[in-house]
Amino acid sequence: MDDAVQVVGGGRERLVPGTPLLEVEDLHVEFVTRDGVAKAVNGVTYSVAAGETLAVLGESGSGKSVTAQAIMGILDMPPGRITAGRILFRGQDLLTMPSRDRRSVRGQRIAMIFQDALSALNPVLSVGYQLGEMFRVHQGLTRSEARDKAVALMDRVRIPAARQRVGDYPHQFSGGMRQRIMIAMALSLQPDLIIADEPTTALDVTVQAQVMDLLAELQSEFRMGLILITHDLGVVADVADKIAVMYAGRIVETAPVRDLYARPAHPYTRGLLDSIPRLDQKGRNLHAIKGLPPSLLKLPEGCAFHPRCPRAQDRCLSEAPALAPVVAEDGRELPGRHSACHYWRETLRGAETSTS
Ligand code: SF4
Repeated sequence: MDDAVQVVGGGRERLVPGTPLLEVEDLHVEFVTRDGVAKAVNGVTYSVAAGETLAVLGESGSGKSVTAQAIMGILDMPPGRITAGRILFRGQDLLTMPSRDRRSVRGQRIAMIFQDALSALNPVLSVGYQLGEMFRVHQGLTRSEARDKAVALMDRVRIPAARQRVGDYPHQFSGGMRQRIMIAMALSLQPDLIIADEPTTALDVTVQAQVMDLLAELQSEFRMGLILITHDLGVVADVADKIAVMYAGRIVETAPVRDLYARPAHPYTRGLLDSIPRLDQKGRNLHAIKGLPPSLLKLPEGCAFHPRCPRAQDRCLSEAPALAPVVAEDGRELPGRHSACHYWRETLRGAETSTS
């Protein structure tokens, strides 16, 4: 057996935590529209290891969900097209894999949780039937065996009275409970990787916290990789290991989660942090980032963030910054830290001043 693989409960192979699981390399995705070509993803590179949680953060249209759809192989093509890059899953490029193998990876190794559980679930089938389908189709279980598995999964995601409710339909559950059913469905085949796209956006704050705690607990128990896509920095603070911040189809900052909160190295991240309430900074004024994200049909020259950036200089209008390592005063690269800003040092110093 490969050193990087262990066999866990149920005979399922699992990568040893920390082993590379998913590596997205220089991915480019565009959409052909009547008004022109929209460059939705422009050279995205990120990775997730087994047992690790990556939060991908950005406003609507930043490319975070399109990247996830490319990983899952559910992009609408056309009008979408992947023009460059690789998506390595356990070392194999999903983009060049035969479509039958790709479907098998999608069904059994990578699962996705969507924001809107009501439209992701079939309204005319009971949740027990939908949960059990995975076991009937992929494992050949009988209807009653599959129903028992569905009840066990509903129990595992803490749906009260699971055996009594297994025959209920999606509309008979609250939003939070429906999202738990989506999580149960994603878990059903014990995937290596779960991609959760805004999984708590439609929920109120208390239920959001419960669902995020449940996801984190299950991720740790099953030693899965988890990609959490969100526009809300507050949601991921306690559950992510590292964060990639996206803007206009690019990654503009990466960092371990604590470092990013304490010392952002990009003005956009700084702006996102300044716009959320923080318990550790009572009495601080909140500031929204001015302006709107750019049109993907016509990205600004130079740094795409410059029309909204409080630190923009002449250089920013013509020269696009590369995503480069963030370096400490002594010249040491800070682990996991990168910024796509010509003036990341000033932002880092500003962050240190304002949080001290
Ligand atoms: Fe702002 Fe310039 Fe940095 Fe872009 S490169 S984020 S415009 S300071």
